Amino acid sequence: MIYADNAATTKMSKRAIEAMLPYFSEGYGNPSSLHSAGQRAAEALVSARKRIASCLNALPREITFTSGGSEADNQALLSAARLGAKQGKRHIVSTAFEHHAVLHSLKRLEEEGFSVTLLPVPENGILSAQAVEEAIRPNTCLVSVMYANNEIGTIQPIAEIGAICKRKGVLFHTDAVQAVGHLPIDVEAQHIDLLSLSAHKFHGPKGVGALYARKGIPLMPLIEGGAQERGKRAGTENIPAIVGMAAALEETCAGMEERSARLKVLRDRLIDGLREIPHSILNGDREKRLPSNVHFCFEGIEGESLLLLLDDRGICASSGSACTSGSLDPSHVLLAIGRPHEIAHGSLRLSLSEETTEEEVDFIVQSVKEVVAYLRGISPVWRDLANGKKQFILS
Ligand SMILES: *Cc1c(COP(=O)(O)O)cnc(C)c1O
Repeated sequence: MIYADNAATTKMSKRAIEAMLPYFSEGYGNPSSLHSAGQRAAEALVSARKRIASCLNALPREITFTSGGSEADNQALLSAARLGAKQGKRHIVSTAFEHHAVLHSLKRLEEEGFSVTLLPVPENGILSAQAVEEAIRPNTCLVSVMYANNEIGTIQPIAEIGAICKRKGVLFHTDAVQAVGHLPIDVEAQHIDLLSLSAHKFHGPKGVGALYARKGIPLMPLIEGGAQERGKRAGTENIPAIVGMAAALEETCAGMEERSARLKVLRDRLIDGLREIPHSILNGDREKRLPSNVHFCFEGIEGESLLLLLDDRGICASSGSACTSGSLDPSHVLLAIGRPHEIAHGSLRLSLSEETTEEEVDFIVQSVKEVVAYLRGISPVWRDLANGKKQFILS
């Protein structure tokens, strides 16, 4: 099997699995218990928090553990909005191509009376910091812009946006779920107030993530109960998962530069190969994209059929977002960068990992070329395009 869907989830690292194992067996104590078994778990929690904070250049008490990226996004947005409302600020700036965890939280806040500006995204998938600055009003309480887009992989100028927010006294949240392990993160240098991450996107376990919140920013608990996580998230901590996340984060950050350089070579080889397919387009900027991400649209085909036929050849890929697959609506990200519906339906995302090889990349290119040609051969839409009855959109 060739796994090229690392933006949906990743295989766990051996080191992370090994780090977790003791906490399922001898180390099963509850960190809130006073006895030695509990204290051993509590120490693991303290250590994991410290190590995760250090990878982000944050303080341990600025890290709150969550059930993943979605929860961290929800908690960040609802907390910043509640704080804003107390100061009479009820306007939020974000973008049209955020993850649904952000977009749906914003929808909820709109229903509660907040006004939200969703910035349009240019065709290259990269927002300008100036557009963010111009959208900020006197009553803006929060700017939320993702670090790297989960579908098209484009990288946003978050340090610049962070500096603008700092100057204007507005909180800045970034969903860094796709960026972790691929791009440098330093919450001080990049002026980030709130940041979401998720372990299963960087070879850690599923169902665990973290929210960084700069000291002094009160987080609103989404789950009420005990005093765990300083009252910011009730419930017995998932110690094995948290320990696994810390191990995976340290590992991924330590190997980042070398891995990124290697991945970029494979990514570019894949892009060059797929660009040979006529009537296709690379989505997102060619350079300012995750070293792992390749995203194309092919005119005259259905993305779903492409995925199923690639799967028959042992290739796991995605049309873009795991969260919207199964629905017939085209991706909001592709619509945001201006792709027409009929083009957005024929999308393919390939996301690589350190295990991807050059042979795999070449096999993927060959397979996509053959499958696209086959699907076009049996498509009535393609026949109309080829006959000149309809105009091609992509050259
Ligand atoms: C995967 C993803 C999330 C959601 O993370 P979960 O841990 O699966 O809840 C949020 N934002 C982005 C950008 C993602 O890629």
